Amino acid sequence: MAVDQNNYNSIKKSFIETNVTLVAVSKTKPAADILELYNLGHRDFGENYVQELVQKQADLPKDIRWHFIGHLQTNKVKLIAPFVQLIQGVDSLKLLQEVNKQAQKAGRVIDCLLQVYIAREETKFGLDENEVAEIIAKALDFSGIRICGLMGMASFTDDVATIKAEFHHLKEVFDRSKKLMAANSVAAAESFKILSMGMSSDYKLAIACGSNMVRIGSLLFGERVKP
Ligand SMILES: *Cc1c(COP(=O)(O)O)cnc(C)c1O
Repeated sequence: MAVDQNNYNSIKKSFIETNVTLVAVSKTKPAADILELYNLGHRDFGENYVQELVQKQADLPKDIRWHFIGHLQTNKVKLIAPFVQLIQGVDSLKLLQEVNKQAQKAGRVIDCLLQVYIAREETKFGLDENEVAEIIAKALDFSGIRICGLMGMASFTDDVATIKAEFHHLKEVFDRSKKLMAANSVAAAESFKILSMGMSSDYKLAIACGSNMVRIGSLLFGERVKP
């Protein structure tokens, strides 16, 4: 069995009567694995690579909600703009401007999360709190996008206290950013409601710290082989 249905069922069960959305991270995994979860009723899938996402979107059922969770290059936005459900890793104003432009071309409004840098690692992408505030202020009149919240990744470590502190920090940035939006636009603040944090190894802690969207790959699909 390609998908760990026991893990899937127990995670889904634990989310009943919570407001937590499970995004199944299917990067590098075959379409057949995605279909297996799809046939259990799952619709939210996350991908990191544009070419792979475009191919899977073409091959798989059209009611799948595709989340782009990787680092998105500006010149590739147009490839996913016609169908993407949520772009989770917006980490610059330049990228947001391009999403706005391509969304308008596609006749859509694209939901985005701003990616915040919370880890103590050089390799991860993301904004700091001041940059989030600047982008929020500038993006208020972008009609092709909606900033629906924040996304972040904790440090790759076994030290629970470190991870917890990083998640708490992101929750605080989220709360302050929402207030900032409310000062400008009540409607914009109402749409700002997704806090995407937590992966296979730390999703329970993330939810305890206020996450309402988790991105889980290896617990559902098994370990990935590096592409
Ligand atoms: C790959 C990936 C995940 C899933 O990681 P797992 O540890 O397999 O659950 C979650 N979020 C992002 C941004 C990823 O790139």
